Amino acid sequence: MKEIYNFSAGPAVLPKEVLRKAADEMLDYKGCGMSVMEMSHRGSDFMKIFGAAQKNLREIMNIPENYKILFLQGGASLQFAMVPMNLMTKNKKADYVHTGEWSKKAISEAKRFGQVNVVASSEKDNFTYIPKLDKAKFSSDADYFYIVTNNTIYGTAYTEIPDTGNVPLVADMSSNILSGPIDVSRFGLIFAGAQKNVGPAGLTLVIIREDLLGRAGENVPGMLNYKTQADNDSMFNTPPCYSIYIAGLVFEWIKEKGGLSVIEKMNKEKAKLLYDYLDGSKLFSSPVKKEDRSLMNVPFVTGDAALDEKFVKQAAEQGLKTLKGHRSVGGMRASIYNAMPLAGVKALVSFMEEFEKNNRK
Ligand SMILES: *Cc1c(COP(=O)(O)O)cnc(C)c1O
Repeated sequence: MKEIYNFSAGPAVLPKEVLRKAADEMLDYKGCGMSVMEMSHRGSDFMKIFGAAQKNLREIMNIPENYKILFLQGGASLQFAMVPMNLMTKNKKADYVHTGEWSKKAISEAKRFGQVNVVASSEKDNFTYIPKLDKAKFSSDADYFYIVTNNTIYGTAYTEIPDTGNVPLVADMSSNILSGPIDVSRFGLIFAGAQKNVGPAGLTLVIIREDLLGRAGENVPGMLNYKTQADNDSMFNTPPCYSIYIAGLVFEWIKEKGGLSVIEKMNKEKAKLLYDYLDGSKLFSSPVKKEDRSLMNVPFVTGDAALDEKFVKQAAEQGLKTLKGHRSVGGMRASIYNAMPLAGVKALVSFMEEFEKNNRK
């Protein structure tokens, strides 16, 4: 097989070790004669896989006992609606920080259920930074406060978690969950679509503080009710079994690497290599304000659309795949999630150096 590096924003690169293990176990899981895909979700083999995945996630993220871990479906986008359906129920009001396409979609879904107060936005500058937050603008009676911790499209990330006092903080962590240690107790609810740093698309992780369960109205269907899902330990219906199995292998892989602080160190090293090159380059530049730069998604441009296109094409020929930027930003984007090896970023930077030499402006 030809070696390539996949810089896709999502679905994205998974650890080779995980894919190899899944391949080895595909036809016969640990001698039981069948694939994980064929097993009853209530049988003892799958229950072991499920239990280990939950336990390992709790361990690596250091999730306190008063939080439930849910393995749901519908992607992060269903959470844009489930969050207000379940939580925007007391004062029917929530605060949102607007930092890009994903907060925009979350805001528009939340508006179906109540009043949305946008407390800060970086929209006028094309979302190139995380806006400064002014506590005077926060609603003290908000049912929750909503942020996107890493903005996959624009390449920005929070370096500090906002202090929202007694108002539960809800975070979309789809593109930076498991990229480093976080203090889960600062959040009321964390959710993440799996396809960036966790596993196959469709699986959605929800980590919810127990006191936030049971706030949904009577008319909220069971499938969309966090309490129903929690009471049934994510088995109100058949869960996405195979995706949970792959996510479980990723959690084991993180443990074997030494946990999230080791993973974070690796991520910082990869990102630094790329950002240092970008900052010194005369051809490429990063549109993102330095202090808000993401460790996971790195957009960059030459400022010339034709040259960008040439770069993406030539890079792909060298095995550096999926570097085209999102259509709303243009240029390029390198997503360098946990599973992207340092060698992949080194290969990218050396190709960029070569391209710069051959295409001086
Ligand atoms: C990818 C992504 C989403 C959308 O995820 P789906 O699983 O496609 O719904 C939402 N938020 C963020 C931050 C993302 O990166």
